[in-house]
This record gives sequence, C-alpha cells and structure tokens, in this order.
Amino acid sequence: MRAAVVSDYGEPVRIVSLEIDDPGPNEVLVEMRASGVCHSDWHAVSGRLPLPVPMVLGHEGAGVVRKVGSRVRQIQPGDCVVLSWIPSCGSCWWCTDGHPELCERANDAAVNGTLASGDKRVRWDGTPISVFSATGTLADFAVVSERSVVTIPSDMPFEEASLLGCAVQTGVGAALRSPIRPGDTILVVGAGGVGLNIVQGARIRGAAKIIAVDLSATNRELALSLGATLTINPAKDDPLLAILDYTHDRGVDVAFEAVGQVELVALAFNAARRGGTAVAIGVPAPNENLSINAFAFPSQEKTLTGSWYGGSFAPRDIPRLVELWKSGHLRLAPLIKRRYRLDDTPKAFEDLISGRGGRSVIAW
Ligand SMILES: [Zn+2]
Ligand SMILES: [Zn+2]
Repeated sequence: MRAAVVSDYGEPVRIVSLEIDDPGPNEVLVEMRASGVCHSDWHAVSGRLPLPVPMVLGHEGAGVVRKVGSRVRQIQPGDCVVLSWIPSCGSCWWCTDGHPELCERANDAAVNGTLASGDKRVRWDGTPISVFSATGTLADFAVVSERSVVTIPSDMPFEEASLLGCAVQTGVGAALRSPIRPGDTILVVGAGGVGLNIVQGARIRGAAKIIAVDLSATNRELALSLGATLTINPAKDDPLLAILDYTHDRGVDVAFEAVGQVELVALAFNAARRGGTAVAIGVPAPNENLSINAFAFPSQEKTLTGSWYGGSFAPRDIPRLVELWKSGHLRLAPLIKRRYRLDDTPKAFEDLISGRGGRSVIAW
C-alpha cells in the first residue's frame, strides 16, 4: 500500500510503499476513503510531539472494513466506519473512573507508535514501523483495534465523516462538557479545525454570543457562518480590549484556547470573567510552561482547566454527532476547504502550516 510517512523529525513528508499485515484477533483492516490533515500530525513531523519515527501519519479517517480478526464480533466486512485515535480499553483505572479519553493503554499505544494490542502491523522494507496514535489513516489501508472504529451510516459522505474522528469530536465534545449555560458569552481563540467545532458545540449548547479570534480571514468567515457573533483579527485589533468592549468590561463566561500557544492560553484565562472558566485544548510542546496571574484564582474565583479529545468516548459520542449532523445542528461540509489525493499529502501539509483556513481532506 501507499502511505504518507515521516522518516525522521524535520524530514519532509514522503509517500512510500509499505507492506501491511492481516489484522490480529481483535483488529480490523480498513480501506481508507478519506482522511483529514490535522496539526497534530504536523507536530509529529516537526518533532514537537516526540513520537517514534518512522511513522505512518494520519488519525482522522473514515473508510470501509475489508477484513476482521477471529475474535471480532461487532464489526463486519463492508461496514462503513470512522476511526478514533483513542481506543479506550474500558478496564484501566481511568476508563473505569469515567475518563476513557485518558485511557492508560491507549496512551501507551500512542506514545509507542503501536496499536492497542502493542503490535505493529505496517512494515517498511520488512521492518515494522509506527503509526500515529494507534491509527495511521494517511494510507491506502489501516489495520486498527476494533476499539478504534465506530460504524456510521453507509450513505454518509466519507470526507465529512472523517472529521468526526478528531476535529469535531475534540471541539464539540469540549464545548458540550464545559460549563456553558444557555445565553452565555463564549470565546474561542483559534478558529481552525478544532476551534470551529467549539463554535458549533457552543451554539448547540445555547450560547448567545460567540467570539472567535483568528488570523485567517477564511477561518473568521467560517466561524461567522457556523454561529460566531463577533470575530477578531488579532493582527488588527487587541483581542482582550475587543472582548472586554463586547462584554461590557465583564469578560466571557467560558473561554477556549484551541491553538496550543501559551500566550493564547493566558489570553483565554484573562478574558474569562470573575467566576468564569478557561479551557486549554490546543497542544503546546511537552516542556512549555504558562505564566498567569496567580492572584486571580482566589480573588476572582477563576478556573483554568484542560480538555483532551473533548472528553470523548468514540462508541458513545460518534453516533450522537452523526445524529446532530443528520438533524442539521452540526455542519460538516463547510469545514472542508481543500481536497487532495494521497500523493499530494506533502502539499496538504504545506497549506496547513501556511495558515490557509478550513480543513484539508485527503480523498481516495
Ligand atoms: Zn487531530
Ligand atoms: Zn483504559
């Protein structure tokens, strides 16, 4: 099969020929039909996320199951599926404590570049190589754990469905699990793949005013079309002053940071009102620290919290997102701004890091 691979940190993304094994007993073989291109993949390419290379990129995909392992009962060949990059085990301490997004075994797999089983099923010239977060969707095929797939309706477009696996689940999940109340004012710093879905989640939750901050005019326009009521271009206006102006100097009820820059986490925290909450979602480098005013915690009763994968459990949440899409509450098609073939994946990454707005999707 062909796949988009990073061979070492800082090396260009390459399309190479790889061998793929049959699925193990609890695994399935998926023929990929669409895969989103996410900033987290780029963090693996640049080395900002220190993951084991060489590695097959991609973790936001949809496709058709072609083979199932001997112990797989719930999934059949021919099923259309979305891939999830956290194959929660259901039995570790975090899973049983109600936080499947923090699953210990899924985290081990991601860090080691393996599947949930601990195995590797992809080989490059005979040598097993890693896959991104137990998936590796930027490839003609992916062998993944049965816990990494959720079935979707066969008439759902694959390109739209693929986004459910990362950007949508992360953004909508973070909004739905935050303390947003109907009528609240919300801030979203960074209106990219995840941020635009926080906007949608906040709208679904009943927020009255949604402020989106982004450098990209495309992203600001998209944010307005998906529910934002004010957009701020931080290259033109001071975001904090504009936010205070819009909220009668009170600040927002809930603020989200979806970029992964510590100064922007501080902006979200500073923009939250007294008693408000800031949620950090973007992924900074593992060794970065944040400077914020400590006095604000007791004197203003502010909360700073984090959200990983939107607090989602894919088998529970992807069917709900499909229902929200069917009912028109969740919009997916407008998020996709560019389509590429697998061979053009390096170009898709170039466009991603140059800050062109909207999601890029590789389509087969
Ligand atoms: Zn992602
Ligand atoms: Zn677990």
